Amino acid sequence: MKFVEEYRDPELGKRLLERIQKRSHKPARLMEFCGGHTVAIFKHGLRQLLPDNIEMLSGPGCPVCVTASADLDKAIALGRLPDVIITSFGDMIRVPGSRSSLQKARAEGADVRIVYSAQDALAIARDNPEKSVIFIGIGFETTAPTIAASILQAEQERIKNYYVLSLHKVCPPIMKAILDLGEVNLGGIICPGHVSAIIGSHPYEFIASDYKIACAVSGFEPLDILLAVDSLVEQIESGQPKVEIAYRRGVKPEGNAPAIRLMETVFEIGEANWRGIGPVPSSGLQIKSRYEKYDAARNFTIDPGPTLEPAGCICGNILRGVSTPPECKLFRVTCTPEHPVGPCMVSSEGSCAAYFQYGEKNI
Ligand code: SF4
Repeated sequence: MKFVEEYRDPELGKRLLERIQKRSHKPARLMEFCGGHTVAIFKHGLRQLLPDNIEMLSGPGCPVCVTASADLDKAIALGRLPDVIITSFGDMIRVPGSRSSLQKARAEGADVRIVYSAQDALAIARDNPEKSVIFIGIGFETTAPTIAASILQAEQERIKNYYVLSLHKVCPPIMKAILDLGEVNLGGIICPGHVSAIIGSHPYEFIASDYKIACAVSGFEPLDILLAVDSLVEQIESGQPKVEIAYRRGVKPEGNAPAIRLMETVFEIGEANWRGIGPVPSSGLQIKSRYEKYDAARNFTIDPGPTLEPAGCICGNILRGVSTPPECKLFRVTCTPEHPVGPCMVSSEGSCAAYFQYGEKNI
């Protein structure tokens, strides 16, 4: 099965659904960690196709959504410094911070540019040697290696005006933090596909062994997700949780060693601030002191001011899986993709945006 169409084959999907329906008897609450999975599940209407005893919850796997307001305020404050160019992935610039957004800062005169990769940001630094070019580094283990590579390249080329504000986060510790909060009683977790392509499946083993929760790594096509659900159901029904890779074409148990090495060369594990959860030890990637000259957090003095959360927004609860978007009083009323109040409505991988766009098929 090499081509995308084969992973959308309705006949195979029907057979998989029949198998799930046949062997799923126990109530099973499953969380998809990754925002990409949330969108795929909604887009293909998978929630309503699954048996009633299977409940699907969305987790904190959207990088834009989990960026804390306090961190966003830092990015905005950096953008207001003289002779600074802020470079960022597109969705980030629309997310409201405590008092502004990168988009509003741009309208007020800040030089904020959308880039598609850290390499684009590095190119801007190369072309503007008189400016300080700061890349707002968000994302999980999937994006961190490429951003590490940009720092190494900056060093190799002796580019002195390139900086990264590292807001990167790592997945397994936040999964543990959510389980330790004890707010959601999960039977299974659909583990992220792209992150697992880098870190492999071994880092999730504690979830099966210590928390007795089933795990399946999934790809992003409908059959990938159904295959992962089928694996979770099988584990739950047999009472034997483990970590299964239901995305063999993308993920190896040991992950991608060169990418991990790249990440470990430039970054070290440290605390990260998660929207709705707060600071979580060992859940972020900070730039090592060896590369501190590229670290925006160490090289600029800013006063981002006190942090305010968007009034009425329950993104934090949604990211922890304890609320769903329709439970937010602002959903579809004052919060829409055109006028988002919180990040879960801004991001293309956000739960609120997915409910807004595909909700009717899934509620
Ligand atoms: Fe926040 Fe809007 Fe989602 Fe409500 S609907 S939780 S305000 S993003």
